[in-house]
Amino acid sequence: MTTSGFDIRPTAHPTDPAIREQILGNAGFGRYFTDHMAHIRWTADAGWHGREVRPYGPLTLDPAAAVLHYGQEIFEGVKAYRHADGSVWTFRPEKNAERFRASARRLALPELSDEDFIGSLKALLAQDSAWVPTPRDGEETSLYLRPFMIASETFLGVRPSKEVDYYVIASPAGAYFKGGVKPVSIWLSSNYKRAAPGGTGYAKCGGNYAASLAAQKEAEAHQCDQVAFLDAVENRWIEELGGMNLFFVYKDGRIVTPQLTGTILEGVTRDSILELAREEGLTPEERHISIDEWREGAASGELVEVFACGTAAVVTPVGELVSEDERLRLSGDNGGEYAKRLRTRLLDLQYGRSEDKRGWLT
Ligand code: PMP
Repeated sequence: MTTSGFDIRPTAHPTDPAIREQILGNAGFGRYFTDHMAHIRWTADAGWHGREVRPYGPLTLDPAAAVLHYGQEIFEGVKAYRHADGSVWTFRPEKNAERFRASARRLALPELSDEDFIGSLKALLAQDSAWVPTPRDGEETSLYLRPFMIASETFLGVRPSKEVDYYVIASPAGAYFKGGVKPVSIWLSSNYKRAAPGGTGYAKCGGNYAASLAAQKEAEAHQCDQVAFLDAVENRWIEELGGMNLFFVYKDGRIVTPQLTGTILEGVTRDSILELAREEGLTPEERHISIDEWREGAASGELVEVFACGTAAVVTPVGELVSEDERLRLSGDNGGEYAKRLRTRLLDLQYGRSEDKRGWLT
Protein backbone atom coordinates (compact mmCIF):
# COMPACT_ATOMS: atom_id res chain seq x y z
CA MET A 1 0.00 0.00 0.00
CA THR A 2 1.30 3.51 -0.69
CA THR A 3 0.26 7.05 0.32
CA SER A 4 1.67 9.70 -2.04
CA GLY A 5 4.67 7.51 -2.87
CA PHE A 6 5.27 6.25 0.67
CA ASP A 7 5.33 2.50 1.29
CA ILE A 8 3.22 1.75 4.32
CA ARG A 9 4.55 -0.90 6.72
CA PRO A 10 2.05 -1.00 9.59
CA THR A 11 3.17 -2.00 13.07
CA ALA A 12 2.31 -5.51 14.26
CA HIS A 13 1.81 -4.09 17.77
CA PRO A 14 -0.49 -1.04 17.60
CA THR A 15 -1.22 0.71 20.88
CA ASP A 16 -4.40 -0.57 22.50
CA PRO A 17 -7.16 2.01 21.76
CA ALA A 18 -8.07 2.29 25.46
CA ILE A 19 -4.45 3.07 26.35
CA ARG A 20 -4.22 5.53 23.46
CA GLU A 21 -7.29 7.39 24.73
CA GLN A 22 -5.75 7.49 28.19
CA ILE A 23 -2.56 9.00 26.74
CA LEU A 24 -4.52 11.54 24.68
CA GLY A 25 -6.37 12.61 27.82
CA ASN A 26 -3.15 13.43 29.65
CA ALA A 27 -0.61 14.00 26.90
CA GLY A 28 1.55 16.83 28.24
CA PHE A 29 4.15 17.66 25.63
CA GLY A 30 6.72 15.47 23.88
CA ARG A 31 6.37 12.48 26.19
CA TYR A 32 4.40 9.98 24.12
CA PHE A 33 4.77 9.03 20.47
CA THR A 34 2.44 7.51 17.93
CA ASP A 35 2.72 4.03 16.44
CA HIS A 36 4.55 4.98 13.23
CA MET A 37 7.16 7.28 11.75
CA ALA A 38 7.84 8.47 8.21
CA HIS A 39 11.29 8.01 6.71
CA ILE A 40 13.15 8.98 3.53
CA ARG A 41 16.77 8.10 2.86
CA TRP A 42 19.26 10.21 0.94
CA THR A 43 22.62 9.24 -0.48
CA ALA A 44 24.94 11.39 -2.55
CA ASP A 45 24.68 8.80 -5.36
CA ALA A 46 20.94 8.08 -5.41
CA GLY A 47 19.35 11.26 -3.96
CA TRP A 48 16.11 10.91 -1.99
CA HIS A 49 14.61 7.40 -2.07
CA GLY A 50 12.97 4.70 0.03
CA ARG A 51 9.92 6.71 1.12
CA GLU A 52 8.15 4.72 3.84
CA VAL A 53 5.95 4.86 6.90
CA ARG A 54 7.18 2.24 9.34
CA PRO A 55 6.67 1.26 12.98
CA TYR A 56 7.94 3.85 15.49
CA GLY A 57 11.08 2.61 17.18
CA PRO A 58 14.77 3.10 17.95
CA LEU A 59 17.16 3.91 15.11
CA THR A 60 20.22 1.84 14.38
CA LEU A 61 23.13 4.26 14.09
CA ASP A 62 26.80 3.46 13.91
CA PRO A 63 28.66 5.08 16.85
CA ALA A 64 30.75 6.88 14.21
CA ALA A 65 27.66 8.41 12.51
CA ALA A 66 28.53 12.02 11.65
CA VAL A 67 25.52 13.54 13.47
CA LEU A 68 26.74 12.19 16.81
CA HIS A 69 30.04 14.05 16.49
CA TYR A 70 29.53 17.21 14.47
CA GLY A 71 25.83 17.89 15.01
CA GLN A 72 24.84 18.01 11.32
CA GLU A 73 21.12 17.98 12.07
CA ILE A 74 18.01 20.12 11.47
CA PHE A 75 14.37 19.86 12.52
CA GLU A 76 10.92 21.42 12.28
CA GLY A 77 7.77 21.65 14.39
CA VAL A 78 4.25 21.54 12.92
CA LYS A 79 0.94 20.81 14.62
CA ALA A 80 -2.05 18.88 13.25
CA TYR A 81 -5.44 20.08 14.51
CA ARG A 82 -8.73 18.18 14.50
CA HIS A 83 -11.71 20.28 13.43
CA ALA A 84 -15.24 19.87 14.73
CA ASP A 85 -16.22 17.80 11.65
CA GLY A 86 -13.43 15.32 12.46
CA SER A 87 -11.11 16.41 9.62
CA VAL A 88 -7.39 16.94 10.34
CA TRP A 89 -5.46 20.05 9.24
CA THR A 90 -1.97 21.52 9.42
CA PHE A 91 -1.23 25.25 9.50
CA ARG A 92 1.00 26.73 6.73
CA PRO A 93 3.23 23.62 6.40
CA GLU A 94 4.73 25.07 3.20
CA LYS A 95 6.36 27.74 5.40
CA ASN A 96 7.96 24.99 7.49
CA ALA A 97 9.05 23.21 4.30
CA GLU A 98 10.68 26.42 3.08
CA ARG A 99 12.42 27.02 6.42
CA PHE A 100 13.56 23.37 6.48
CA ARG A 101 15.25 23.92 3.11
CA ALA A 102 16.91 27.12 4.36
CA SER A 103 18.15 25.19 7.43
CA ALA A 104 19.39 22.36 5.17
CA ARG A 105 21.41 24.78 3.02
CA ARG A 106 23.03 26.33 6.09
CA LEU A 107 23.94 22.93 7.57
CA ALA A 108 25.14 21.57 4.20
CA LEU A 109 22.39 18.96 4.20
CA PRO A 110 20.37 17.99 1.08
CA GLU A 111 17.19 19.98 0.45
CA LEU A 112 13.83 18.23 0.66
CA SER A 113 11.03 19.27 -1.72
CA ASP A 114 7.66 20.63 -0.56
CA GLU A 115 6.14 17.50 -2.05
CA ASP A 116 8.24 15.19 0.14
CA PHE A 117 7.99 17.37 3.27
CA ILE A 118 4.21 17.77 3.11
CA GLY A 119 3.80 14.27 1.62
CA SER A 120 5.60 12.75 4.63
CA LEU A 121 3.33 14.64 7.07
CA LYS A 122 0.24 13.47 5.18
CA ALA A 123 1.43 9.86 4.97
CA LEU A 124 2.16 9.71 8.71
CA LEU A 125 -1.09 11.49 9.60
CA ALA A 126 -3.08 9.09 7.40
CA GLN A 127 -1.58 6.13 9.27
CA ASP A 128 -1.81 7.59 12.79
CA SER A 129 -4.92 9.77 12.45
CA ALA A 130 -6.47 8.23 15.58
CA TRP A 131 -3.68 9.96 17.54
CA VAL A 132 -4.93 13.45 16.63
CA PRO A 133 -6.88 14.40 19.75
CA THR A 134 -10.44 15.72 19.58
CA PRO A 135 -10.42 19.01 21.49
CA ARG A 136 -13.19 19.18 24.07
CA ASP A 137 -14.56 22.48 25.43
CA GLY A 138 -12.20 24.62 23.37
CA GLU A 139 -9.11 22.72 24.62
CA GLU A 140 -5.93 23.30 22.64
CA THR A 141 -4.97 19.71 22.03
CA SER A 142 -3.16 18.72 18.84
CA LEU A 143 -0.70 16.23 17.36
CA TYR A 144 2.78 17.76 17.25
CA LEU A 145 4.76 16.63 14.20
CA ARG A 146 8.54 16.67 14.38
CA PRO A 147 10.32 16.31 11.02
CA PHE A 148 14.11 16.04 11.34
CA MET A 149 17.13 15.22 9.22
CA ILE A 150 20.41 13.69 10.40
CA ALA A 151 23.85 13.01 8.92
CA SER A 152 24.04 9.23 9.16
CA GLU A 153 27.24 8.41 7.28
CA THR A 154 29.76 6.34 9.26
CA PHE A 155 32.77 8.60 8.92
CA LEU A 156 34.73 10.76 11.36
CA GLY A 157 36.05 13.35 8.88
CA VAL A 158 34.62 16.87 9.10
CA ARG A 159 32.74 17.28 5.82
CA PRO A 160 29.09 17.12 4.71
CA SER A 161 27.72 13.63 5.15
CA LYS A 162 27.15 11.57 2.00
CA GLU A 163 24.32 9.69 3.70
CA VAL A 164 21.36 11.37 5.34
CA ASP A 165 18.10 10.18 6.88
CA TYR A 166 14.91 12.20 7.21
CA TYR A 167 12.19 11.18 9.65
CA VAL A 168 8.88 12.47 10.95
CA ILE A 169 7.72 11.43 14.39
CA ALA A 170 4.50 12.58 16.07
CA SER A 171 3.60 13.30 19.67
CA PRO A 172 0.17 14.19 21.08
CA ALA A 173 0.20 17.60 22.78
CA GLY A 174 -2.09 18.86 25.52
CA ALA A 175 -2.65 22.56 26.23
CA TYR A 176 0.66 24.32 26.75
CA PHE A 177 -0.75 26.15 29.76
CA LYS A 178 -2.76 24.04 32.13
CA GLY A 179 -5.40 26.15 33.84
CA GLY A 180 -5.28 29.01 31.32
CA VAL A 181 -2.67 31.30 29.82
CA LYS A 182 -0.44 32.98 32.35
CA PRO A 183 2.26 35.59 31.76
CA VAL A 184 5.83 34.25 31.71
CA SER A 185 8.87 35.87 33.28
CA ILE A 186 11.88 36.29 31.06
CA TRP A 187 15.53 36.20 32.03
CA LEU A 188 17.74 38.61 30.07
CA SER A 189 20.91 36.69 29.34
CA SER A 190 24.09 38.72 29.65
CA ASN A 191 26.58 35.84 29.84
CA TYR A 192 25.41 33.99 26.76
CA LYS A 193 24.55 34.73 23.13
CA ARG A 194 22.31 32.59 20.98
CA ALA A 195 23.52 33.55 17.52
CA ALA A 196 26.06 35.75 15.73
CA PRO A 197 26.09 37.28 12.23
CA GLY A 198 27.09 34.63 9.71
CA GLY A 199 26.22 31.88 12.19
CA THR A 200 23.25 29.51 12.30
CA GLY A 201 20.67 31.66 14.14
CA TYR A 202 18.10 31.54 11.33
CA ALA A 203 18.43 27.77 10.93
CA LYS A 204 16.49 25.33 13.04
CA CYS A 205 19.42 23.12 14.00
CA GLY A 206 19.94 21.20 17.23
CA GLY A 207 23.17 23.05 17.98
CA ASN A 208 21.32 26.34 18.53
CA TYR A 209 19.21 24.72 21.21
CA ALA A 210 22.17 22.91 22.84
CA ALA A 211 23.89 26.30 23.05
CA SER A 212 20.86 27.88 24.73
CA LEU A 213 20.59 25.39 27.60
CA ALA A 214 23.19 26.95 29.90
CA ALA A 215 21.29 30.26 29.59
CA GLN A 216 18.02 28.42 30.26
CA LYS A 217 19.54 26.93 33.44
CA GLU A 218 20.54 30.44 34.49
CA ALA A 219 16.96 31.59 33.87
CA GLU A 220 15.56 28.81 36.01
CA ALA A 221 18.02 29.62 38.81
CA HIS A 222 16.42 33.09 38.82
CA GLN A 223 12.87 31.67 38.83
CA CYS A 224 12.32 32.70 35.19
CA ASP A 225 10.54 30.63 32.56
CA GLN A 226 12.46 31.58 29.42
CA VAL A 227 15.55 33.43 28.21
CA ALA A 228 15.68 36.54 26.02
CA PHE A 229 18.81 36.96 23.94
CA LEU A 230 20.42 40.21 22.80
CA ASP A 231 22.46 40.55 19.61
CA ALA A 232 26.06 39.36 19.76
CA VAL A 233 27.72 42.47 18.33
CA GLU A 234 26.33 45.51 20.15
CA ASN A 235 24.64 43.68 23.02
CA ARG A 236 21.61 45.97 22.84
CA TRP A 237 19.18 44.75 20.18
CA ILE A 238 16.51 42.32 21.30
CA GLU A 239 16.50 39.16 19.22
CA GLU A 240 14.15 36.46 20.52
CA LEU A 241 13.58 33.90 23.24
CA GLY A 242 15.18 30.46 23.25
CA GLY A 243 12.17 29.04 21.41
CA MET A 244 9.80 31.91 20.57
CA ASN A 245 9.71 35.25 18.74
CA LEU A 246 8.83 38.52 20.51
CA PHE A 247 6.29 41.29 19.86
CA PHE A 248 5.92 44.73 21.49
CA VAL A 249 2.60 46.60 21.46
CA TYR A 250 2.47 50.40 21.93
CA LYS A 251 -0.36 52.57 23.19
CA ASP A 252 -0.60 54.28 19.78
CA GLY A 253 -1.33 50.98 18.00
CA ARG A 254 2.13 50.10 16.69
CA ILE A 255 3.14 46.46 17.02
CA VAL A 256 6.88 45.92 16.66
CA THR A 257 8.88 42.73 16.20
CA PRO A 258 12.66 42.47 15.72
CA GLN A 259 13.54 42.43 12.02
CA LEU A 260 15.05 39.32 10.47
CA THR A 261 18.81 39.72 10.42
CA GLY A 262 19.96 36.15 9.91
CA THR A 263 20.35 35.65 13.65
CA ILE A 264 16.65 35.15 14.41
CA LEU A 265 14.47 32.18 13.58
CA GLU A 266 11.82 33.18 11.04
CA GLY A 267 8.76 31.98 12.98
CA VAL A 268 5.63 30.88 11.14
CA THR A 269 3.56 32.28 14.02
CA ARG A 270 5.52 35.57 13.83
CA ASP A 271 4.75 35.88 10.12
CA SER A 272 1.06 35.06 10.69
CA ILE A 273 0.74 37.63 13.50
CA LEU A 274 2.28 40.33 11.30
CA GLU A 275 -0.66 39.74 8.92
CA LEU A 276 -3.40 39.25 11.51
CA ALA A 277 -2.37 42.35 13.51
CA ARG A 278 -3.79 44.61 10.78
CA GLU A 279 -7.21 43.03 11.31
CA GLU A 280 -6.93 44.15 14.95
CA GLY A 281 -6.28 47.72 13.82
CA LEU A 282 -2.60 47.51 14.74
CA THR A 283 0.26 48.80 12.56
CA PRO A 284 3.01 46.17 12.29
CA GLU A 285 6.68 47.20 12.13
CA GLU A 286 9.71 44.98 11.63
CA ARG A 287 12.78 46.83 12.87
CA HIS A 288 15.56 46.86 15.43
CA ILE A 289 14.29 47.31 18.96
CA SER A 290 16.74 47.90 21.78
CA ILE A 291 16.64 46.86 25.39
CA ASP A 292 16.63 50.58 26.28
CA GLU A 293 13.46 51.05 24.23
CA TRP A 294 11.86 48.25 26.25
CA ARG A 295 12.99 49.91 29.51
CA GLU A 296 11.84 53.39 28.48
CA GLY A 297 8.53 52.16 27.06
CA ALA A 298 7.79 50.23 30.24
CA ALA A 299 8.68 53.25 32.38
CA SER A 300 6.63 55.76 30.38
CA GLY A 301 3.66 53.44 29.91
CA GLU A 302 3.87 53.81 26.09
CA LEU A 303 4.69 50.11 25.82
CA VAL A 304 1.49 48.36 26.85
CA GLU A 305 2.22 44.72 26.03
CA VAL A 306 5.04 42.34 25.31
CA PHE A 307 4.27 38.82 24.13
CA ALA A 308 6.09 35.81 22.75
CA CYS A 309 4.81 33.52 20.00
CA GLY A 310 5.51 30.13 18.48
CA THR A 311 3.83 26.92 17.34
CA ALA A 312 3.98 25.27 20.77
CA ALA A 313 2.50 27.98 23.01
CA VAL A 314 0.78 30.09 20.26
CA VAL A 315 0.86 33.51 22.00
CA THR A 316 2.22 33.99 25.52
CA PRO A 317 2.15 37.29 27.40
CA VAL A 318 5.44 38.36 28.96
CA GLY A 319 4.91 39.55 32.54
CA GLU A 320 8.38 40.71 33.47
CA LEU A 321 11.97 40.95 32.30
CA VAL A 322 14.58 40.04 34.89
CA SER A 323 18.37 40.54 34.84
CA GLU A 324 21.17 40.66 37.45
CA ASP A 325 20.32 44.22 38.43
CA GLU A 326 16.76 44.95 37.38
CA ARG A 327 13.22 43.67 37.25
CA LEU A 328 11.06 45.32 34.59
CA ARG A 329 7.30 44.99 34.86
CA LEU A 330 4.81 46.37 32.41
CA SER A 331 2.00 48.36 33.93
CA GLY A 332 -0.30 45.76 32.36
CA ASP A 333 -3.08 48.36 32.06
CA ASN A 334 -4.83 46.52 29.28
CA GLY A 335 -4.45 43.02 30.79
CA GLY A 336 -2.66 41.67 27.70
CA GLU A 337 -5.68 42.44 25.54
CA TYR A 338 -3.94 42.20 22.14
CA ALA A 339 -2.06 39.03 23.04
CA LYS A 340 -5.40 37.51 23.97
CA ARG A 341 -7.13 38.66 20.79
CA LEU A 342 -4.33 37.55 18.47
CA ARG A 343 -4.14 34.23 20.26
CA THR A 344 -7.88 33.69 19.74
CA ARG A 345 -7.62 34.70 16.08
CA LEU A 346 -4.86 32.17 15.45
CA LEU A 347 -6.56 29.36 17.35
CA ASP A 348 -9.89 30.00 15.61
CA LEU A 349 -8.13 29.64 12.26
CA GLN A 350 -6.16 26.57 13.26
CA TYR A 351 -9.17 24.76 14.71
CA GLY A 352 -11.42 25.73 11.79
CA ARG A 353 -13.68 28.02 13.82
CA SER A 354 -13.16 30.96 11.45
CA GLU A 355 -12.97 31.23 7.69
CA ASP A 356 -9.54 30.42 6.20
CA LYS A 357 -9.45 33.36 3.79
CA ARG A 358 -5.73 33.06 3.09
CA GLY A 359 -5.64 29.34 2.42
CA TRP A 360 -3.33 28.77 5.41
CA LEU A 361 -4.74 25.31 6.18
CA THR A 362 -3.62 22.10 4.46
N1 PMP B 1 12.34 31.12 17.67
C1 PMP B 1 12.90 29.94 17.99
C2 PMP B 1 14.34 29.92 18.41
C3 PMP B 1 12.14 28.75 17.93
O1 PMP B 1 12.68 27.57 18.27
C4 PMP B 1 10.79 28.81 17.52
C5 PMP B 1 9.95 27.56 17.47
N2 PMP B 1 10.06 26.93 16.22
C6 PMP B 1 10.25 30.07 17.17
C7 PMP B 1 11.06 31.20 17.26
C8 PMP B 1 8.83 30.20 16.71
O2 PMP B 1 8.70 29.65 15.41
P1 PMP B 1 7.30 29.07 14.91
O3 PMP B 1 6.32 30.14 15.04
O4 PMP B 1 7.56 28.69 13.48
O5 PMP B 1 7.00 27.90 15.76
